[in-house]
Amino acid sequence: MAAIQANAVNILYLTAAICFIFSLKGLSSPESAHGGNGYGISGMIFACIAAYLCTNCTPIDFAFQLTVLTIIIGGTIGISIAQNISMTSLPQMIAGFHSLVGLAAVLIAFSVYYAPWLFEIVPPGSAAVPASSFAEMSIGAAIGAITFSGSVVAFLKLHGIYKGHRIPLSLNAFLCSSIVCLIVYFVTTKSSTVFLLLTILAFIFGAALIMPVGGADMPVVVSMLNSYSGWAASGIGFTLHNDLLIITGALVGASGAILSYIMCKGMNRSLINVIFTPEPSVASPDAATEIKPFKQGSPEDAAFILKNAASVIVVPGYGMATSQAQHALREMVDLLKKQGINVKYAIHPVAGRMPGHMNVLLAEANVPYEEVFELDEINRDFSCCDVAYVIGANDVTNPAAKKNPGSSIYGMPILDVEKAKVIMFLKRSMGTGYAGVDNELFYSQNTMMLLGDAKKTTEAVVKAI
Ligand code: NDP
Repeated sequence: MAAIQANAVNILYLTAAICFIFSLKGLSSPESAHGGNGYGISGMIFACIAAYLCTNCTPIDFAFQLTVLTIIIGGTIGISIAQNISMTSLPQMIAGFHSLVGLAAVLIAFSVYYAPWLFEIVPPGSAAVPASSFAEMSIGAAIGAITFSGSVVAFLKLHGIYKGHRIPLSLNAFLCSSIVCLIVYFVTTKSSTVFLLLTILAFIFGAALIMPVGGADMPVVVSMLNSYSGWAASGIGFTLHNDLLIITGALVGASGAILSYIMCKGMNRSLINVIFTPEPSVASPDAATEIKPFKQGSPEDAAFILKNAASVIVVPGYGMATSQAQHALREMVDLLKKQGINVKYAIHPVAGRMPGHMNVLLAEANVPYEEVFELDEINRDFSCCDVAYVIGANDVTNPAAKKNPGSSIYGMPILDVEKAKVIMFLKRSMGTGYAGVDNELFYSQNTMMLLGDAKKTTEAVVKAI
């Protein structure tokens, strides 16, 4: 009977792992994202059933009832957060959830340390925990603690509650090397004080690592923390001898690391550069200080120019998300296409406030995928396009990223909207974007500023067309 149960658990774990792999595959494109989500949910259900079978609990056991109760409470909180969260607050939510994964890793590592027999690592009462388990639990706890405090700081920064501080590189290097030394010392001494000390240092290191990270680098940080949370789970999987946790943690860790790498490439920075030579996220020195002349247009002017264009490229950004202008935009593009105008959408890899932010919003407005292009695919087309319709985007179009080595966004590839014959900027003021860097294009000869809420302005353009 026990052998049958063990086999069932193994098969369920394997099925869950396969579901998670298909889930990641599905989530890599908006077209297959729903399916990917379905695979993820199924994998989680299989994993829960397998975990239940492992425990030998029955529904009348208090432990079982407590577990079900916590799943119901946690699930209810999760559903309510998911239903109420606004699209613009998703990065904070992701950072918040990562912090919980990190904290869980720390708590499990400490539970394993103090009661290893509960996790079937050793027989009850035995003190003979293998040295490898101490290495796994200390690494898992350290990564978990870094993930927790780093994610909390990322949450506070993304939510605008905390602006950031400069932390000397030497302090971070000291904290990092101390944690490594303490892990080695802990494996040899198995001392609870050393375990506690290394975990406290890891909490401090996680916060110190994220505190100085500059605004433009926050997307990389969010995906890096995602990766950390995966490795923390994987480390704990080794401690608990749980294959599914090892596989799932490795999947999350590797996909987060790959996403961080892709985003660094998109911003023309190295991961080491982002983590260890961060920029201050406090008020940028290159923010606008003087009032310069600019050309302001009305929705009617914009409609006239758009109707007479042969090709238009729409560049959405964070402002489109806050104003929820995607439906009005789709309506405007439909009208232009009916008049034979060629319209495409250009998406910058860090437009908005989370990876894929713009793709999700455009998909919500049923914009066909074949009209949406990534930076590399479309950048060449700006030089032969009549109008760049920049709706709530700023940093991702800012030429300072190419021309001004002192700028905090220097080196980030941008969408070359300045090459279009006419640039229309839809925003509420002449203010800066997330990175706090003034955009010289607002004052350019071929720029028309359409000041106001992006949704209202686009609706007025639709009316005028
Ligand atoms: P930006 O933050 O550079 O610019 C957005 C612009 O939208 C602002 O200048 C603002 O101007 C305007 N805006 C805001 N609300 C409205 C509204 N209701 N109607 C019209 N305009 C509005 O956004 P981008 O998308 O160009 O660039 C993204 C930035 O965010 C980058 O710096 C990136 O590094 C960073 N980031 C990206 C993340 C990601 O994963 N994608 C995560 C975290 C940060 P005004 O106030 O004048 O209206």
